[in-house]
Amino acid sequence: MPEHEDYLIRVAALDGRVRALAVDATEVVARLAEVHDTTPAATAALGRVATGALLLGALLKQDQHLVTLRVRGDGPAGTVLASANAQGEVRGLIGNPHPEVEQVLDGKLNVSGAVGRHGRLTVVRDMGLRHPYNSTVELVSGEIGQDLAYYFVRSEQTPSALGVGVFVDRTGAVAAAGGYLIQLLGGLKDDEIEEMESEIAALPHPTTMLRAGETPEQILGRVFGDSFQVLHRGPVRFYCPCDRDRAERALRLLGGDALEELRHDEETTGHSDVVCEFCRTTYRFTLQDLDRLIEEAA
Ligand SMILES: [Zn+2]
Repeated sequence: MPEHEDYLIRVAALDGRVRALAVDATEVVARLAEVHDTTPAATAALGRVATGALLLGALLKQDQHLVTLRVRGDGPAGTVLASANAQGEVRGLIGNPHPEVEQVLDGKLNVSGAVGRHGRLTVVRDMGLRHPYNSTVELVSGEIGQDLAYYFVRSEQTPSALGVGVFVDRTGAVAAAGGYLIQLLGGLKDDEIEEMESEIAALPHPTTMLRAGETPEQILGRVFGDSFQVLHRGPVRFYCPCDRDRAERALRLLGGDALEELRHDEETTGHSDVVCEFCRTTYRFTLQDLDRLIEEAA
């Protein structure tokens, strides 16, 4: 059996008047679930946010640009956040990976129960300028997909259909994850819009299609037949750019007094650990390391 390959495509349809993307992010979400040790509802919440970030990331103009999707609901999962770049690299985190809610409700993963039905969704685009571009909308359902579709209409005035999904099997493992985004860029006739809307309405859930072995191309083919042009096809993966230097910079930012306090607290353990909240990598600093940082801060 060939290895599973996560990838994303961006296509143009109807002479460029429609932009569409589809992504298979199964391995990405499996990795996120593993790194953050999430319960099924939390896996789905984080996975949907990460899939949304990948779709938004693929709309960035340059490789080093970054988009962050932050969902702050009133549910027990706390903040759910993911950042992706145009190269298909994504990382994420969830405030509480073990939210105390019914994990499955009415046969579906209880994402809105974990996230909360009220709160805010913020999209931050960092394009290397002094101020990142930042836009916030109220949550409409806490299911993420609808919230993101609302964001596109409200904040970007782009009519958009969006589906994101995560399927977790009985063992808690991620069996499928991915989604699609279809955007009307203008210049469409009413009958063209109606036809497309009925095709989109007839689309099965993203993970139903992925679990049936459909590729991103086949998913978009359900809406556009073979009349679309693939503009981009690239891998997506979990990736965290953290390293020891960044961890050390974070410690430096504490300043001399706080570092002294930290050194005092860690006297008995003999070291201080800095854990990356995105990938859970631990960077260990010895008392000697701390002494050096304190000296440099003075
Ligand atoms: Zn990291």
